[in-house]
Amino acid sequence: MLTTNPFQSEDDDHFREECAVFGIYGSSDAAKHGALCLHAMQHRGQEGTGLVTYDENGDQFHAHRDHGHVGEVFGDPNVMAQLTGNSAIGHNRYSTTGDTLKRNVQPLFADFEFGGLAIAHNGNLTNAGLLREELVRNGAIFQSTTDTEVIVHLMANNRGSVVDRLAATLSRIEGAYSLVCLTRKKLIGVRDPMGVRPLVLGRIGDAYIFASETVALDIVGADKVRDVEPGEVIVIDEKGLRSFFPFPTLKPRFCVFEYIYFSRPDSIVEGRSVYEARRRIGEELAREAPLEADVVVPVPDSGVPSAVGYAAESGISFEIGIVRSHYMGRTFIEPSDEIRHLGVKLKHNANRPVLEGKRVVLVDDSIVRGTTSKKIVEMVRSAGATEVHMRITSPPTTHSCFYGVDTPERDQLMAAKYTIEEMRRHIGCDSLVFISMDGLYRAMGFEGRDNDNPHYCDACFSGDYPIRIADRETPPIARQLSLLKDAS
Ligand code: SF4
Repeated sequence: MLTTNPFQSEDDDHFREECAVFGIYGSSDAAKHGALCLHAMQHRGQEGTGLVTYDENGDQFHAHRDHGHVGEVFGDPNVMAQLTGNSAIGHNRYSTTGDTLKRNVQPLFADFEFGGLAIAHNGNLTNAGLLREELVRNGAIFQSTTDTEVIVHLMANNRGSVVDRLAATLSRIEGAYSLVCLTRKKLIGVRDPMGVRPLVLGRIGDAYIFASETVALDIVGADKVRDVEPGEVIVIDEKGLRSFFPFPTLKPRFCVFEYIYFSRPDSIVEGRSVYEARRRIGEELAREAPLEADVVVPVPDSGVPSAVGYAAESGISFEIGIVRSHYMGRTFIEPSDEIRHLGVKLKHNANRPVLEGKRVVLVDDSIVRGTTSKKIVEMVRSAGATEVHMRITSPPTTHSCFYGVDTPERDQLMAAKYTIEEMRRHIGCDSLVFISMDGLYRAMGFEGRDNDNPHYCDACFSGDYPIRIADRETPPIARQLSLLKDAS
């Protein structure tokens, strides 16, 4: 599941956002709404994007999928003009399974006995390798290397209506996923039994919308109806909306990293403002790790709300001591060592008048390999800071994610290899404190982490994986998913 992405700078030292999904039913502007919603969720995946629409006039599906950002892929009016129809699904991709082939860009599409089916997926199936092997043994021919295509083949192997086939397929797959499916007559949204990945239902006029985050609803003026519940399947067609729960009930374990880093701060996730959650984490961190300093400086952008909270709780003044360039495109991300060295300066620059002669508290969301943190500390010191103290708004990242987030292997995670003091020395700061696990849960409104029954998935900090990772327990024999490489 772990891939090297050519668009990712080594200096961009974060867990990578997973993907975004979108679906709409009953709108005369389905494709335009889709492009706007995907644009609002660009932060969840920048490698590729796609839309599939269905047009009743002519009984035809239309698709456009490509590598690149939403603005690039859907910026051509001629492309948009061809995406006719009143229903659509869409996807922003950051590869967590499958490599960066163009044929992996979703939504995927397949012709079934009942007509066409388009499908898009945010998450990761933890038994996809085993299922794929079984399917190939039984004669299936795969066109992509994504785990989403496993769902398509399982549906093809079942009989009955699309909903029957989907329900039978869901009983075989394991993992964390939010799915949207489009047929000629139906739009379907699904969330995995533990609700690890987000999915919301919205309404605009008579049309229904599914999206990974509420910011997608905001951009088109849609209202949020509610979160799709963990384990829920929602089917929307001309008769309206109906919902069912095909899985045994499990205790939800939503991804806590959505609050710390992945989701946009202006999103409402699982009924909670992401901005507010981050601010409260910053306040809690100030209580757990107070110190004397002159300025609190966020590492932009995700560190900003937490730094606001840290500054408010500590009484130390909040300053923008690091400015981030929002215009650094892929063009700059070349794999040469020289450019890699320049990378962090292209992305972040020190605001010298704020930092010179100051004791600085730097607030960041996480440390993965430690490469960015080290360079940022060096940059802040060269701008004249007399002390640099790092405060991190997640517990140490000691484990990889297998639930749809692109992460390095464990042996590349700094916190899995070193003590906090060793990390501090390597990064070169005067002090380094991570929020405690209990502190994180307190910030989220609990007394602490209930170790017998944790409220969230926090496996990348705790190693407590709520969903078994079948592909790791019994690795599939055929590790190479495809012999073909796209030249494009
Ligand atoms: Fe989220 Fe971490 Fe769990 Fe992955 S392992 S779903 S990133 S909390």
